[in-house]
Amino acid sequence: MKSPLLQSLKLILVVLWLSPTAWALDFNRYHDQDEIAAFLRTEALNNPELVHFEILGKSAQGREISIVAITKNLSRDAPAIYFNGTHHGNERASTEAVLAVIDYLVRGQNNSSIDRLLRRYRIILQPMVNPDGHALNLRTDSRGIDPNRDYATPNKPEKEAFQLVETRLVRDLMIKEKVVASAAFHSGLEAVLWPWCHTPTLSQHDPVFRTLAASVAKTMQVNRTSQSFYDYQTDGEYIDFAYMRHGTYALTFEVAQEATPMPNHLDAVVRRAVRGSMSFLKAVDEVLSTPQARFPAIVGDGQASL
Ligand SMILES: [Zn+2]
Repeated sequence: MKSPLLQSLKLILVVLWLSPTAWALDFNRYHDQDEIAAFLRTEALNNPELVHFEILGKSAQGREISIVAITKNLSRDAPAIYFNGTHHGNERASTEAVLAVIDYLVRGQNNSSIDRLLRRYRIILQPMVNPDGHALNLRTDSRGIDPNRDYATPNKPEKEAFQLVETRLVRDLMIKEKVVASAAFHSGLEAVLWPWCHTPTLSQHDPVFRTLAASVAKTMQVNRTSQSFYDYQTDGEYIDFAYMRHGTYALTFEVAQEATPMPNHLDAVVRRAVRGSMSFLKAVDEVLSTPQARFPAIVGDGQASL
């Protein structure tokens, strides 16, 4: 029989591991793009072996679009796990969530669980897919196009997709990196969603998606998990693209009921997002370590079988 004391101790240790303590950033307010750019550069400068800063390109209005790759694995072929925020510019909590994950991984780089993940994977983090929307507080880009409907997906052909430079940069990043798993942060709902978005048909990897989503939802204390279609139907979403084209285990993390929660709620929101992200990383690692459930099979012309 398990001792209740031991059980409680174990729970406390898990909670401690999952509770970020000291932040480099103050999450009682939202950060502007100059502060975000400075943060990414400072983390790279202060941790040159660990944090690799890269400018992917510029938005339609000329704003910087950048990532950091955090890893202790020097191989360019190391599998990547990719987090992005603010497809929707008014969902500013999603950018702060990505910043918090960066902050947490860097501060915890010597924690044994994080160290293990960093030795295996390149963890790529993009705070803003859509910096123009972020600056203008718009869901869409500056011309009114929704970036998260602009990807090639099973019922949105390539020639109708990638109208936006912002989504083309994501597309090109995914070609360059071997992205085995990915989470797109959004806000305006509390839920964990997975492909398909465009059809009620279950994907070939539905059991894996359910396992990953359940572990994230548990640590984020979110009740709602579902195939994205059952949230609502869409064509051209990032997660359908990433799964279809690259066989990536791509999920949507909806991290807050409001798109832009009050600043005094932000710290709690990003802590949940960090807990969810850490459990996602661990769950992905477990899935990929299981021989029968490795990287999804890609068939034919690079499309995961439907
Ligand atoms: Zn969104």
